[in-house]
Amino acid sequence: MLHEVGHIIDHAYNALDSLTPEHRNTINQVPIPRGAVTHGRGEHYAIAYQTLLTGGASPAVRAALLSGNAFSGVDLVHP
Ligand SMILES: [Zn+2]
Repeated sequence: MLHEVGHIIDHAYNALDSLTPEHRNTINQVPIPRGAVTHGRGEHYAIAYQTLLTGGASPAVRAALLSGNAFSGVDLVHP
């Protein structure tokens, strides 16, 4: 479910394309689980988003996601 939200966020905010090349590269290296059904080029973003919300994202992945359009103006310290 969070995974699907990740796809929606990516699409709605053009999130992956809003990242710097370095951050986009970080996201594109998030591994896709073997046997997973993929939904196109946004798959890495959706998986990264899922791991961010479940607390499993690496610091680099977290920083990359939070730098994008989708999290612009979001206060993550005081939710
Ligand atoms: Zn997917």
